Order: sequence, then structure tokens, then C-alpha cells
Amino acid sequence: MPEWEPVIGLEIHVQLKTRTKMFCGCENVSGESENTRTCPVCLAHPGTLPVPNKQAIEWTVKLGVALGCEIASRALFHRKNYFYPDLPKGYQISQYDIPLCAGGKFVVPGPDGDRKIGIVRAHLEEDAAKTIHVGGSGGRIAGAEYSLVDFNRGGTPLVEIVSEPDVHSADEARRFLQLLRQTVVELGISDAEMEKGSLRCDANVSVREAGETDFRTKTELKNMNSFKFVADGIEAEIRRQVEIYEAGGEVVQETLHFDPGSGTIAPLRSKEEAHDYRYFPEPDLVPVEPSVEMIAAAMDDIGELPAARIRRLETEVGFDLAEGLVSSGRDRLYERVSGDRRAVANVVMNQLAATGVDPEAVNGTELAKLIAERERIPRAAFTEALERSGDPGFSADDYLGETAISDASELDPVIDKVLAENQAQVETFRAGKEGVLGFLVGQVMKETGGKADARVVNERLREKISS
Ligand code: ADP
Ligand code: ZN
Ligand code: MG
Repeated sequence: MPEWEPVIGLEIHVQLKTRTKMFCGCENVSGESENTRTCPVCLAHPGTLPVPNKQAIEWTVKLGVALGCEIASRALFHRKNYFYPDLPKGYQISQYDIPLCAGGKFVVPGPDGDRKIGIVRAHLEEDAAKTIHVGGSGGRIAGAEYSLVDFNRGGTPLVEIVSEPDVHSADEARRFLQLLRQTVVELGISDAEMEKGSLRCDANVSVREAGETDFRTKTELKNMNSFKFVADGIEAEIRRQVEIYEAGGEVVQETLHFDPGSGTIAPLRSKEEAHDYRYFPEPDLVPVEPSVEMIAAAMDDIGELPAARIRRLETEVGFDLAEGLVSSGRDRLYERVSGDRRAVANVVMNQLAATGVDPEAVNGTELAKLIAERERIPRAAFTEALERSGDPGFSADDYLGETAISDASELDPVIDKVLAENQAQVETFRAGKEGVLGFLVGQVMKETGGKADARVVNERLREKISS
């Protein structure tokens, strides 16, 4: 069997959170009543003219700079023509051969070093309206009784980012997307929430035999709305293509829909070619000429990028925790809490994250105190303290006075009971898999309502199992 190399290029749409829409003064908001944020421009009444949103252009330039792109000195808007109810003008104002940003590189730190993913372009366009299909299954148009259109989203600013086919695994795609998301969030230009559709990702996928230099036919996976679905969808598509080739078949270029529920992939429609859209320069708009000052301001505005922070934190806590902290934005809290770096990273990433407390609301000094004492106080008190740690006026001292049960006479009967009830785990431990100790400690904690001293329980369990 040959070894197969996946080749993946991503197309990512980011909704900009400007106050108003791209070419009119309508409010740019989601979640409002349908068709209440519209005007003659975004409803395409005859005789209206578009006026570009300056903020949207500045933000696209800022993103382009962060992606290491060249910023066009004279970018053009084009009309992309197609007929669909979500597009009242019959065309979308987009960018074609001269986008605002082109030719960038985005650094994605991985466990085995940096990966540089080429950015073909990042261009600015207007979003289409939202269609809602009623009566069918799962909101799809197939089988629907009728469809409704909500024009609130129509004409809102959207940036499309196209990567080179430089991504070589589903995991790398997820990592790239997560880091890109965190980058746009930190730039302050988008909420970039996949569940809400303010960040959308299509993946182009092909496979080739290791060592081959030419690319093979690609397929396009549409609109997967979570990081996990993106990774799962790509994984499934890679498998599907490899199976086709190994059975002597050929992959057909098509657009596909990944159903995360069943893990299956089905064709959506055949792919249009650029010439089907009859692109031509938008005659109602002049070219966009970002000034030198605008580009300089964008450069000034960009702080330390997430990729660089992952590399910096990796030396303190290892790659996995560093990546987790940065791509969730939890590293800001981590930096505010002194103490053993790994312990702080673990608590911030795991136990605290599990409580759902907003990390920005946490007082770093109080959390540091709590973490320093976490071995000494009952686990239940520690957990409760974490749950309260975002409350105004939270004080760690309220919990540090509680003492854990460390008395052998109290703990031994519980430990003996747990050992008797979990013989299989005890055997596993004796066979060398010491990881199961955590499970046994957990059982003792459960029995004691979280009041036992974890360190003492650990020691006693070890003693008893090996005696
Ligand atoms: P199209 O003309 O079909 O839109 P593009 O050349 O514009 O194709 O590329 C669209 C996206 O597909 C880009 O992200 C690009 O990196 C990716 N891509 C192009 N060729 C391949 C391939 N053979 N395998 C995987 N991805 C590809
Ligand atoms: Zn409008
Ligand atoms: Mg294309």
C-alpha cells in the first residue's frame, strides 16, 4: 500500500463586527427580528448607490498585515453575478483579481516546530442574506415546503481568507483555524464564533502518494460549524478519497456536505467556475487605495501575535498547555497568576475552565494563593473556591482555613472499602499502569465528599496496594 499525503487548502469567512453594514448605514447586528435592519441600498432598490465602510477597509488591512500579506495600493471591487433569493441585486460585491491583501504567511506552531501556511489572499466582500428553509429535514432546502429570507445579514461586511494548499492533516487544519480565530478576536475585528456563523470554514481536500509533486483532483467540504466538525469532516474525506484510489477509481471534483451526526459525506452541487460568475469591476465604486498612514497604523496596532505567544509559553509549560492557553485566550489570566507555571497552567486550562467562570473576571493574586495551597485544603473546598473565583470581592482566605481529612484512622476504612470494590483497577496498577491511581483517589474523594487530603490519600493507596 502506498503512503498517502493529504493536501488541504482552507477558505475562511470572517464576519466583521463593524457598527454598520458594508455599503449602507444599516446597523450590523445579529439576533434582531427579521428584516428590521434593511434599507433601499441593501434591499437593492433601483437607483441606490453603495458607499464603502471605512472601518471595514481599515480592519481588513489590519488583518492582512497580521497575516503577513502585501497590501494592495489600489484594490478593486468586482461584481460576482449569480441568481439566488439571498442576493437581491443579482450580484455580490466582492473582490477578484486585485484583493486588498495577498501573498501572506501565517505561522502555526505545532508540537514539532513551526508550520508556515501560505495565504493566497484576504479580500473584502458583502455577505448574502440568510435563507431559512421551513418544513424539510434539518433546515436543508431539499424537501422544504417553503423558504424565508432575512435581509438583516444581507450586505454585512465579510472577509474571505484563502490559504495555499499547505495544510497536511486534519489536525493541522484545526490548529490553523483555531489560531486564526484567536488572531481575529484579538485584533478586535470579529467575534469569530463558529456556532453563530461569524466564522465559517470550507476545506478543499485532495490526497496524493508521498513523493508525488503534482496535486490531484480536490473536493470542497462546505461550511462545517465547529472546530471538531472541520477536523472530523476532513478526516472522513481523506479516508473516502484514499479508498477510491486504492480501489482503482478516480476522485471527482465536487462540493460536498459533511454530516457530523452520521459522519457521512454527500454531494451538494457541482462546482461553478469563475467564468460562470461573469466577474466585472463594480462601476459604482472607485478603487480602494489604502494610505501609507493606514498601513502604518495597522502595524502599530498589532501586538504580540498568538503564534509568538505559544512559542514563548511553550518553554514554561510545554506545547500542549501553551497552545491550549493561547488559542482559548486564557493565557491572559495565566500571565496574571504567579506560582509554579505548570500548576497555574493546569488549573487555568482544566479545573477553572470546567467551572465556566469568565477568566477575565478572576483576581490573579487570589487565584495564586489558592493554587499554592491546593494540596493542603480539601478538594471540595478548592473546587468551590474556583467556582466563586470570578465573583466581585472573592477572597481565597475564606477557603484556606478549611482543613482536609488527613487522619489515617478516618481515611483507612474508606480506602479499604474503595480497594475492595475496585479489585480490577488494583490489578491494573500492580501490572504497571499507575495512571489508574487517579481513578482510585477520585473514588476516595467521592466517598469523603471531597474532604480528604489528596496527598495523604495518594500515599496511603500506594502503601496499601504494594503491601
Ligand atoms: P477554485 O478555482 O476551484 O476555487 P482555487 O485555486 O481558487 O480553486 O483554490 C481554492 C482553494 O483550494 C484554496 O484554498 C487552495 O489552496 C485549495 N486547493 C487548490 N488546489 C488544491 C488541491 N489539489 N488539493 C487541495 N486543495 C487545493
Ligand atoms: Zn441597508
Ligand atoms: Mg477560487
